[in-house]
Amino acid sequence: MVTADPAGTDRFPPPPYRGATAGFATVHHKEHVVAPVLDRVGLVVEVVPFDTDSLGTFSGEVPRPGPAVEVLRTKAVAGAAASGRFGLASEGSFGPDPSLPVTVDVELVGLLDASSEVLVVGRAVSPAPWAVTVTVHGDVDDRIVELLHRAGLPDQRMIVTSAERSAVAPVKGLADLDSVRRAVHDVLRAGHGATISSDLRADRSPGRRAVIHDAAVDLAERLSTVCPTCGAGGFGPESTEPGLPCSWCDSPTSATLHRVHRCPSCTHEERRTVEGAADPAHCARCNP
Ligand SMILES: [Zn+2]
Ligand SMILES: [Zn+2]
Repeated sequence: MVTADPAGTDRFPPPPYRGATAGFATVHHKEHVVAPVLDRVGLVVEVVPFDTDSLGTFSGEVPRPGPAVEVLRTKAVAGAAASGRFGLASEGSFGPDPSLPVTVDVELVGLLDASSEVLVVGRAVSPAPWAVTVTVHGDVDDRIVELLHRAGLPDQRMIVTSAERSAVAPVKGLADLDSVRRAVHDVLRAGHGATISSDLRADRSPGRRAVIHDAAVDLAERLSTVCPTCGAGGFGPESTEPGLPCSWCDSPTSATLHRVHRCPSCTHEERRTVEGAADPAHCARCNP
């Protein structure tokens, strides 16, 4: 499933990343997605045993103990402890898009060098039409069946939970409509509303795997990009600033004018200006 990547075979990161072996704390087989990408920049991925579900589950039994990047670091520390020096980790977050009525998947894949505590983070953001949630009080009707098929069932697995969370344990990894219907029936018989939602664990969600792959490509790119000041790998865009001029009236808009590139090893940063003009849709004056 891994296709041509910008991180090609001719690009290798500088030391200490080149040739390093990284311990990857994952229980949901993310190594199948991440390892081939990092292999192309000379990094060896080794799966290490660690119960990542103790740091939060998408189905909600275990809440995440902090912001995504902190959880990423905690997992990477566990990976590094098992492998000696380098730890690899992946963490995903789902939430509403700030401007559109869609769910967005933000995936982070990070590599930690435990000797310097430098964490290089690759990111990918994508709309997630496969991440659906629907509450059911009676039959799984045609409208719900269509929604589940659009989300990608059976490749995209489903979870059925009770509206009263503690009442019935979630049924996960459901791979066909009959199993979904049976699980809904059991929850409803217990006297509560049932919720069907996408199983977002990486090995049950092809859509999520594609975004994790893109985050791994971003990590490989960053590891191969050296900081102009200190020469360490990991230099790349970290944040954006709005203000790109409107193509109609030239006023500053909400579209990105600068991308701020930062080095995770030193304090060097560069503000790079985006060329061109913004779509008037981003302009408060032309498109109020
Ligand atoms: Zn304008
Ligand atoms: Zn630097």
